[in-house]
Amino acid sequence: MPGTLPLADRTIAEVGELLRRREVSSRDLTEACLGRIARDGERLNTFLAVGEERALAAADAADAALKDGGGADKPLLGIPYALKDIFVTRALDDDGQPNGGLPTTAGSRILEGYRCAYASSAEERLSNARAVLLGKTNLDEFAMGSSNENSAYGPVHNPWDDRLVPGGSSGGSAAAVASGQAFFATGTDTGGSIRQPASLSGIVGFKPTYGRVSRYGMVAFASSLDQCGPLVRSVGDAATVLQALAGHDPRDSTSVDTPVPDYGAALTGDVRGLKLGVPREYFVAGMEPGVEAAVRSAIGVLEGLGAEIVEVSLPSTDHGLATYYIITPAEASANLARYDGVRYGLSAGDDDLIENYVRTRGSGFGPEVKRRIILGTYALSAGYYDAYYVKAQQVRTLIKAEFDSVLSGVDALLAPTSPSVAFKIGAKADDPLLMYLNDACTLPVNIAGLPGISVPCGLSDGLPVGFQVIGRAFDESTVLRVADAYQRAAGFIDLRPPTAYG
Ligand code: GLN
Repeated sequence: MPGTLPLADRTIAEVGELLRRREVSSRDLTEACLGRIARDGERLNTFLAVGEERALAAADAADAALKDGGGADKPLLGIPYALKDIFVTRALDDDGQPNGGLPTTAGSRILEGYRCAYASSAEERLSNARAVLLGKTNLDEFAMGSSNENSAYGPVHNPWDDRLVPGGSSGGSAAAVASGQAFFATGTDTGGSIRQPASLSGIVGFKPTYGRVSRYGMVAFASSLDQCGPLVRSVGDAATVLQALAGHDPRDSTSVDTPVPDYGAALTGDVRGLKLGVPREYFVAGMEPGVEAAVRSAIGVLEGLGAEIVEVSLPSTDHGLATYYIITPAEASANLARYDGVRYGLSAGDDDLIENYVRTRGSGFGPEVKRRIILGTYALSAGYYDAYYVKAQQVRTLIKAEFDSVLSGVDALLAPTSPSVAFKIGAKADDPLLMYLNDACTLPVNIAGLPGISVPCGLSDGLPVGFQVIGRAFDESTVLRVADAYQRAAGFIDLRPPTAYG
């Protein structure tokens, strides 16, 4: 069936094959994506910047390399992609002059028009892989959100239904990949921001182990949890993109110097002999019945493939949300201190320094970012530090220890990604706590630093549902193996929103 999809909606594996057989060109692929961006980009509000000319020039260069027989060892050569606009892109030359590169906003007014002098590791590595950068995708401001409604540049709409959110914070990336505007996109995941929008938009999203991919050039939200990963249409494509992104980078002190295995080799399609745990606490109260049914049936598929399914318990799951909403605002309040209206980004231009801080930050940050800075500053302040921050770090250790102990008895865990399908724009916007609950199933994975992938497992009320495979630290291979075996057997690899056609 995949062959019947329009070019823009196929997987990297399929179009890569066509490229190497020279049946299509990188220019064809790039034009197909640019055509989709022209058709749907504005309506869905997926992109904050598009670099059409540079993309076409990169595509032509890729075509020239393919003509010379290149590409065999470069599966991303000539493949058009997007970066979440939280990855800085080099936009100034050595003399500080604009070089035609793309600006970086992090979804915030405070960085409007900001041009960075250096490339993020993600841009650099994907450019070394000769992928074709199309543009920068919309996101919740500084990646704080679960619906993309917190972007200073307007909400992103879900390609399955314009009235719905695509999830967040990598909502632009998810919607772009789901609607054929890019073959893959990067995201960042601090508490679920790759996996949850992948789930709500019907695609695959993979958060690797903390430390697996460099954070260099990723605008910091909560540095001890932020991690970069791919949003793609198949598990096989996730393996391909992760291969290009992963690896030690001395410029990120938390990037781990450990060998990167061949992820493609993990995709055996065989899960016989694997023991997969289902944590009972993840089927939370308030979960939509259609979501639970789809996830349970995915677990049944893996059992049918020969995996042993066992129920397990992670009793501290309930404390994940509170822990996360102490630690991440605390780190954010420190990280965001750099937006002072002096060094870069927006400046109110006031001669009085304090007045300049107040006016720049007052007008440059949106309400959710301010809420988190206030929460974090409070949690770190004298007298509250021990009660909140230190306590949260202790619970974090407990959560991690529980995962480690359970994962010593099973090869991976299976769980829902989000308790609900995509919801209406505006439905939770006035209730931060309700919004935060979206991430109950994803954020413990970040707290423990583990790899987790979200894979589509069907529809509920006509909208996509995803389930998670969570693995041991640095064992991305088993996560990919389980997810891929499921995807091959269950076939939701062809799931596309109505916008994919016509
Ligand atoms: N939705 C979560 C939050 O608002 C997670 C965000 C993320 O992973 N960047 O913090």
